[in-house]
Amino acid sequence: MGERDATVNVSQIERFATHDGPGIRTTVFLKGCPLHCPWCANPETQPTSPVMFHDERKCVGCGACAAACPARAISLDDGFAWDRRACVRTPDATSCTLCERACMHEAISFSGELMSVGDVMDVVLRDRDYYENSCGGGMTISGGEPLANRGQALALLEAAKVEGLNTAVETTGNVARSTVEAVEPLVDHFLHDLKHLDDVRLREVTGGDGPLIKSNLTWLLSVAPERVNVRIPVIPGFNHDDATIRSMLDWLAERGCTKVNLLPYHTLGRSKCTRMGKAYEWDEHPLDEADLAAYHAYALELGMESKVGA
Ligand code: SF4
Ligand code: SF4
Repeated sequence: MGERDATVNVSQIERFATHDGPGIRTTVFLKGCPLHCPWCANPETQPTSPVMFHDERKCVGCGACAAACPARAISLDDGFAWDRRACVRTPDATSCTLCERACMHEAISFSGELMSVGDVMDVVLRDRDYYENSCGGGMTISGGEPLANRGQALALLEAAKVEGLNTAVETTGNVARSTVEAVEPLVDHFLHDLKHLDDVRLREVTGGDGPLIKSNLTWLLSVAPERVNVRIPVIPGFNHDDATIRSMLDWLAERGCTKVNLLPYHTLGRSKCTRMGKAYEWDEHPLDEADLAAYHAYALELGMESKVGA
């Protein structure tokens, strides 16, 4: 089986992305993440199984979806409810989408589809001209954690390199070192998260493995510093205080990091959580550029290229 026949578990493919690496890019969001950050902008990518979006504004409560469901996974007894464990839909989109098809009001959609690498590349290659005319554009893989499934990440990156495309990976670093080493020669830009240096706090809030993340990031900064952009999401109630962010910037500077992005906390994940029937659990006031100005100035003082935003 060639790499174009391999299957990947895709949440979404976004064309004309401008914040996921240089130039104009197509970002392939893969399903599955070892972390569960409560402020996640893409909560539907966390599980590997399909996720249902139900739009209350479109739903008229007719019950056609529940009537069509062979698994009794939908109930309207006390408002719309979907039982993910009862649903028999798999990432293979042909298996069951009866509820989605029964809904005349387009209130139901799913995130999570198995696609061949060839089909993904057909979408990615539609915009080759834009990549070539946009200062280093190309394909980004994101998630979820796109390196959580090593085989899928390698298949996509190898296919992109066969086509001569620029590649970027947006990663938490919460994966085996052997995976980072395997993909490293195929990646032009690592967009690597750093959320907290305190391993206990990181695990408590996100489930992340701090020592593993720090070890992987230190290794990448030692072998390919010019290809690593570190992204620090600045989150109120988690890491948004002077001492915490400054210590992260010091830690990065000591390891040869040259490029950092400071990402202000936002609540873009809230509406997705609502449509997923999931509580949005980190309800803080969004930050703006001015809130991060002092961190930005400190990163510049340390000699790093710094930017507020992606
Ligand atoms: S996908 Fe199929 S099993 Fe799942 S809720 Fe919809 S109709 Fe029921
Ligand atoms: S079929 Fe559509 S409109 Fe009717 S109850 Fe189900 S989601 Fe709502």
